[in-house]
Amino acid sequence: MKIQSVNPYTEQIVESYMLLSDVALEEKVQVARRAFSTWSGFSAEKRASFFPAVASTLRARKEAYAYLMTQEMGKPIREARAEVEKCAWVCDYYAQHGPSFLQEEVIPTEATKSYVRFDSLGVILGVMPWNFPFWQVFRFAVPTMIAGNTCLLKHASNVPGCALAIEDVFSKSGLPPSIFTTLLISAKAVTRLIETDLVDGVSLTGSNIAGEQIGASAGKMIKKQVFELGGSDPFIILEDAHIEAAATTAVKARFLNTGQSCIAAKRFIVMEQVADAFIASFTKAFHALKVGNPKEDTTDIGPLARKEFVQELTAQLADAQSKGAKVIYGPEVPATGFFFQPAMVLGARQGMRVVDEEVFGPIAPFLIVKSHQEAVQLANATPFGLGASIWSRNLPVAEQMASQIQAGSIAINDLVKSDPRLPFGGIKKSGIGRELSSYAIKEFVNVKTVVVQGGV
Ligand code: NAP
Repeated sequence: MKIQSVNPYTEQIVESYMLLSDVALEEKVQVARRAFSTWSGFSAEKRASFFPAVASTLRARKEAYAYLMTQEMGKPIREARAEVEKCAWVCDYYAQHGPSFLQEEVIPTEATKSYVRFDSLGVILGVMPWNFPFWQVFRFAVPTMIAGNTCLLKHASNVPGCALAIEDVFSKSGLPPSIFTTLLISAKAVTRLIETDLVDGVSLTGSNIAGEQIGASAGKMIKKQVFELGGSDPFIILEDAHIEAAATTAVKARFLNTGQSCIAAKRFIVMEQVADAFIASFTKAFHALKVGNPKEDTTDIGPLARKEFVQELTAQLADAQSKGAKVIYGPEVPATGFFFQPAMVLGARQGMRVVDEEVFGPIAPFLIVKSHQEAVQLANATPFGLGASIWSRNLPVAEQMASQIQAGSIAINDLVKSDPRLPFGGIKKSGIGRELSSYAIKEFVNVKTVVVQGGV
């Protein structure tokens, strides 16, 4: 069976790739299992020592990798370059800090000695999405490998070129063979693989439907899982917010990656005293966005990654319009390519799909509230709990509100973004577990208690 990558700007096929046969798949996974026995025997310091070279390869070939992402999923090229840089950062970060995060932890008891070791778990499967085709993979794989595991990658089927390029980054940088292996396989083959003894854990970044299906398989096999799923992050503007700064950041937070980000601001909740001013500032920055060829440096918004996403967004927007919302359209989009004209939705409310569901594209719904309590209620009135942004000059008020919001990350007077130094993940339907920081490196480990009695 074949998969194809399609350039979403030209709508042309970039390349076709053969999927692995069942026999070839099993062979690759067995090799990764054998590689695990050597790799896990290295010290954490030795494992970490391979990663500065990975960072160098990424930086040296930044332009080529950025081009590949843009070609396969339409990411504006400036953002693609920044994504490669961020991958290099996560390599440097864990090369420096990974070994200390994995140090044994002594816990005094009545025993002669008692401590916790963080031993590797085995072969970990990463099932990854197309929206940050390099970053999602690196943020999962780097700490997981430094913890002594080997990684398998099942990438989204529209970015096979990125999947193979990532495997090549690791081998080019001198990592021993089969510590990281890309598998070109279907989603169906993923659940079959999880239901064997060949993999020891699974990390999924993707949709909730994929989470339910992979979770059912992993649950049946009692396997460790980390899930980074969807989000519908609120972006809350309080009455004393710096309106200009909030609006400029809001536009960035909604339209980065053409709106296809899990932690994009997806619902703008605005106190009524400042609603007109905020919407006016937002509208100005919104109309200044440049839509077009993602390979051009000046482009802010490119095509969506896949054709079917245009229909999905069209239906979500039509639902809001049919229920009385007013739509303000942004810049015109080219006639070809998987484009969706950016839109602001005024008068949005619960009961509309743009508010109740995750909107994975350039649509910005505005909800006006009369009190902080109403803002918190609305912010939490979602099955998701990934991130939230709060804007106020009164930091104690904003921090108090942060404690009431059900989300894995809160940004005050900033947009929600991931950072290798800070844990990242969601609650409710947004996921299980954490990525990045010292927390991530302990997701796929055996937290092993050792109690020693006797001796001298
Ligand atoms: P997706 O359709 O769930 O795909 C993600 C990955 O899962 C792909 O590799 C896909 O393979 C695979 N997959 C899909 N269904 C599967 C199944 N039933 N069994 C096994 N594998 C399956 O998600 P997407 O459209 O690529 O990504 C968008 C979603 O990801 C959004 O909901 C977004 O919020 C979420 N996301 C979350 C985070 C986070 O950190 N929380 C970050 C980025 C994205 P195929 O391509 O072959 O179907």
